[in-house]
Amino acid sequence: MPARRKLIAGNWKMNGLHAAGLELATDLARRLASAGTVGFDMLVCPPATLVHPVAGAVAGTPLAVGGQDCHPKESGAHTGDIGAPMLADAGAGFVIVGHSERRQNHGEDDALVAAKAAAAHAAGLVAIVCVGETLEQREAGQALAVVASQVAGSLPAGADAANTVIAYEPVWAIGTGKTATAADVAEVHAHIRATLAGRAGKPDAVRILYGGSVKPSNAAELMAVEDVDGALVGGASLVADDFWAIAETCR
Ligand code: PEP
Repeated sequence: MPARRKLIAGNWKMNGLHAAGLELATDLARRLASAGTVGFDMLVCPPATLVHPVAGAVAGTPLAVGGQDCHPKESGAHTGDIGAPMLADAGAGFVIVGHSERRQNHGEDDALVAAKAAAAHAAGLVAIVCVGETLEQREAGQALAVVASQVAGSLPAGADAANTVIAYEPVWAIGTGKTATAADVAEVHAHIRATLAGRAGKPDAVRILYGGSVKPSNAAELMAVEDVDGALVGGASLVADDFWAIAETCR
């Protein structure tokens, strides 16, 4: 099985003004640069307004920058949206697509998420494709089927280990302080890995992140789970000490 380098990704959501955002990103970039050789990649996904200044501030360091969403079209009459080429032009290397907050609050379905991931790939970005079941679905015993169907429907043709990362984020664990058990995470990640076969190039090398209330106190246990190749972190990624402590569990 190919070695998969862990990815610790921070999703700032709709948080971050200029000065504080730059301070957070440069603090992390400094820690990463002075840590020397580590066993993880680190990424921050600030709001769209900060992608360019953050990318400029951390240029030349190993800290990567990403967007939180993109439109399936390159450009056009789509007021308020952002095209993947714009993110790439601003200095992003990644973009999150299909986050549950977009699926729920903006009615995004798998076909749209796949189109967004395809747009990301066309712009040279790595797409972080988010999937995850609701509490109702988990309690109904549907978690594995829901997640497999989201993975199958949200991956565009041409998805592979170089241009795609999967993030498993149970909806009920996001921003709630609740985390899935290590056993539940292991079961879902193994199912996602099996689902990737035939749907993505080099499926054994695709990174599968866990997200949902990851914090310093639970990160070591979660990051040690088979088939967990890193974390997508919301709230704790806004505090440099906490985000760094999560990353250090993968050192
Ligand atoms: C997220 O938004 O992707 C997330 C996992 O949030 P939190 O870590 O705050 O639960």
